[in-house]
Parts: sequence; structure tokens; C-alpha cells
Amino acid sequence: MNKYDLNEKVAIVTGARRGIGKGIALKLAENGAKVVVTDISKEDCEKVVDEIKEKNGEALALKLDVTNEDEIKEVVDKTVEKYGKIDILVNNAGIYIAKELDNMETSEIDKELNINLKGPILCTKNVLPKMKEKNYGKIITIASIAGFVGFAQSSIYCATKGALVNMTRELALDLGKNKINVNGIAPGVIDTPMTKDMLEDENIKNNLMANIPYGRIGKPEDIANAVAFLASDEAEYITGQILAVDGGWLTH
Ligand code: NAP
Repeated sequence: MNKYDLNEKVAIVTGARRGIGKGIALKLAENGAKVVVTDISKEDCEKVVDEIKEKNGEALALKLDVTNEDEIKEVVDKTVEKYGKIDILVNNAGIYIAKELDNMETSEIDKELNINLKGPILCTKNVLPKMKEKNYGKIITIASIAGFVGFAQSSIYCATKGALVNMTRELALDLGKNKINVNGIAPGVIDTPMTKDMLEDENIKNNLMANIPYGRIGKPEDIANAVAFLASDEAEYITGQILAVDGGWLTH
């Protein structure tokens, strides 16, 4: 199903070997984009690329740890070498460590800050020159409803997602003149490997469900549909926004 015209667009998606990132990579490809599927495990990215190619899409698998700026530069160079440009960056890679702050090792705090916040900062920084050259770009960052409200045992996660929300607004301010749209998505609870353990616990699942007016847990495709829209030129005049895709969680 081709809903948005992303033909000839080139997209990089981080953390795309599974979960929401994989859903986004498949959806962008389905809408015509050439997708660079990146994650720490290149082997798993190859499997996503195979899935895309089976449906006649175009994709490339590259290893990328978003905390490693040398690898980011390499992904930028290889993408431009193969496809000539970068139109879309989806900052999706992220981790979740469920612990109260005083129970966290400083190394765990650094890890969560580096992957969830510094990663999107470095990926965006290194992709921007290529977008500015073309006076065109779509940067979409996967934040969270945890960027708007508190969640138990998630202080660092909430801090990183809140920072991404406001960085999105600021970057939109700087980059409007370059015709680069900067937006974010705030997913609610989405069924992925990240939330598997929580959702398998009936008590936790019921507590989560009590906060979701729409009455179901989200799917990666719910997020991917919103990303495809924001990546398209139908969303041209939208910038600096965070779209909650949460079944209504943030309404109360
Ligand atoms: P997931 O299933 O754990 O997938 C995340 C992917 O990112 C994994 O493949 C992971 O690889 C990868 N990753 C971890 N560290 C990385 C690094 N340094 N560089 C590159 N890739 C890295 O999680 P998800 O649920 O799809 O989450 C995707 C994004 O949505 C995250 O930013 C998350 O915070 C956000 N989000 C998720 C939910 C939800 O309910 N699922 C809700 C709100 C927001 P490894 O497996 O090897 O670590």
C-alpha cells in the first residue's frame, strides 16, 4: 500500500533491526523511499533489507552504533555514495533502563544518556550539512510520552525524551530557513521487544491499559504511519511539532 509519495527519497533509520525502527524502515520503503537500515547488528539489518527487497523496495544495511561519531560519518558517506543524498533521518535508536535513580550505576546513566540523547544529537549534526546542501530535509525523532509526563523508575529515560522534545522545537527554529522540517513522535506503549517483559506481566499490562482511552496497546505500524506522513511533502508546513501516537494517554 503506497499512501505517501516518498519515491526517490533517501532515508536513514537508526535502531532499525527490530521493533519500531524496523516498522518505520518497512513503511518508508513501502511508500517508495530508499532506506538505509542501521543498527548495532548489521546481520539483523540485512534481514530487514531482504524483507524490503522481497516487496520490490530498495534498501541498504549498515552497522551503526549511534554513540560512535566515526560510524555515523561512515553511514552518511556511504549513503551519499550509494544514493546521492539524504532526505530523511529517523532518530529511533533508544534504550530503557527501569530503575530508581539512586539504584543506577553511573555507567548505566551515561549509557542511557549517550544512546537516547547524544545519539540523536550526533546523527542530526552529521546529516545536516547534506540536507543543507539540497535545501531539503525531514528529521523525525522518536521521543516518548515519557518526554511529557513522569513514569516510575524512569528518571533518566524521561530526562532524555524531554530533552529530545525541546531540541526538536529549537532545531525547527534554526532550520526553517533551510527548508528542513524537524518533528518528533511521542509513542505511547508499543508492543516491541523493549516492552515484551512488561506486557507479559498481566498486572503491569492492566495498569498500562487503564491509561489508554483507545483500549489497546500500540503497534510499530502505528508509529510508522505517523513517520511516513511527517516524512512526506503533504506535511511540508509542519515543523517543530511532537505528535503523540499513544491511544490518548496524554489526554489525562
Ligand atoms: P527495541 O525493540 O529495543 O529496539 C531498539 C533498537 O535500537 C534495538 O535494535 C537496539 O539494539 C537498538 N539500539 C540500542 N542501542 C543502540 C545504539 N547505541 N545504536 C544503534 N542502535 C541501538 O525498542 P523499541 O520499542 O522499538 O523502541 C524504539 C524507540 O522508540 C526508542 O527510542 C524508544 O525509546 C522509543 N519508544 C518506545 C516505546 C515502546 O513502548 N516500545 C514507547 C515510547 C518510545 P539492541 O537490541 O542491540 O540494544
